[in-house]
Amino acid sequence: MAFQADFQRDGIGLRSGGLKILLVEDSRMFSAVLCHRFQTELGLAVKSCPSLKALRKELADDGHGYTMAVVDLNLPDSPYGEALDCTIEHDIPAIVFTATFDLNTRNKIMERNVIDYVLKDNEFALDNLVATVRRAISNRKTRVLVVDDVVSARQVLVDLLKAQQYLVVEANSGLEALAALEAYSDIELVVTDHHMPDMSGYELTRRIRHRFGSDRLRVIGVSSSNDRMLSASFLKAGASDFVYRPFVAEELQCRIANNAETLAQMRQLRAAAACDYLTGLYNRRYFYDNGPKLVNECLRLKVPSSVAILDIDHFKRLNDTYGHEIGDKVLKAVANRLFTIFEGSDNLLSRLGGEEFAILFPQMDSAAATKLCDEIRSDISRLKVTADDEELGVTISIGIAEIAGYETFENYLNAADQFLYMAKHRGRNQVYSDAKMTEEAAQ
Ligand code: GH3
Ligand code: MG
Ligand code: MG
Repeated sequence: MAFQADFQRDGIGLRSGGLKILLVEDSRMFSAVLCHRFQTELGLAVKSCPSLKALRKELADDGHGYTMAVVDLNLPDSPYGEALDCTIEHDIPAIVFTATFDLNTRNKIMERNVIDYVLKDNEFALDNLVATVRRAISNRKTRVLVVDDVVSARQVLVDLLKAQQYLVVEANSGLEALAALEAYSDIELVVTDHHMPDMSGYELTRRIRHRFGSDRLRVIGVSSSNDRMLSASFLKAGASDFVYRPFVAEELQCRIANNAETLAQMRQLRAAAACDYLTGLYNRRYFYDNGPKLVNECLRLKVPSSVAILDIDHFKRLNDTYGHEIGDKVLKAVANRLFTIFEGSDNLLSRLGGEEFAILFPQMDSAAATKLCDEIRSDISRLKVTADDEELGVTISIGIAEIAGYETFENYLNAADQFLYMAKHRGRNQVYSDAKMTEEAAQ
């Protein structure tokens, strides 16, 4: 369990590398700015087409592989939205970017099941468009459960969500919905009807809330009931939102998008709270919150685990000689190396603070942890960090203690710290542990 936050990611933790987007826009200014922003902010590959002719030529070949298109409704060679028709014919989901807008245009756009439309009529138009594309890409990984016993009503919701690129799971009853939540652990939003034969939407919401907090799963009620108290009942039962039928598509879309965004922001906050700012590794708080759970599980299974404290040697001297910035560079290099070593393993790596790291090895006794840590020590001793024109080397010392009985988590770490102290005392660039002490005593 090694975690490293990637600070290059955008606000919603999006990695859209490899996706291709089509930009159909005749204004050179809009086109240049959007190309740049899609590439740099969203990591998308962009193909720009300034006319319907250019668009047709681009789509003439099969296998173009576009994830979506941003389409201007009015182009000099196609003033009536023909470019939108063309992308739809090629099954490319579209976001309409338009200066002309009235109710008639709106209805025509919405009939075509577009992802969304963005108006060019204000100074935030470009920001809004980039945000809309970002959301559509994020929706491709967001799973939504739609619950309604009436097939046609459910289909309206499903079509609306699919147009927005969400991954959709359907259920035709409350019990089926609960089963779907068991089957798909990544469902983030539930959109549910109220009147259903086996269980009302209100009851379903209550049951969902019993198991999942609103920081994990959002529930949105949708009903054609005349009972004006129903929305209040849903919200009191833990629903995050409620919309009466018949609804305006854009209103429901916005409410769903807002809920998805709230979840993304909460995920970001949780990740930030668990992350060490300098190195991107798990921080002390995360280690102290999660370490005890791993230890207790091993104790329950009656298998030993081990904890190691790892400390960079003579780090103060390095700071004093080369400056704090180089010190930080060395710290990050050691952290990156440790991250690479532990990525995908069951061992919990964190930066405790300063130049100290802790590693918890579940289901590993001290002898095995000592052997592994000695390989890590040797690996780090070969690490080279360039500072100015010099190649700096770095060494670490590691103390390891076995965990075989119930004690406070702090005690386990204190024991590892004692062994670290001995490793330092014995000359640094060493590993010391209870296993090593026993081994030496036997010789
Ligand atoms: P030893 O070999 O005994 O571990 O000696 P040391 O010099 O590594 O240990 P000591 O605890 O005396 O000094 C640690 C230094 O680490 C002191 C502190 O200024 C520095 N330090 C702590 N956090 C950071 C950081 O985030 N960045 C940098 N550059 N230095 C840090
Ligand atoms: Mg040190
Ligand atoms: Mg220290």
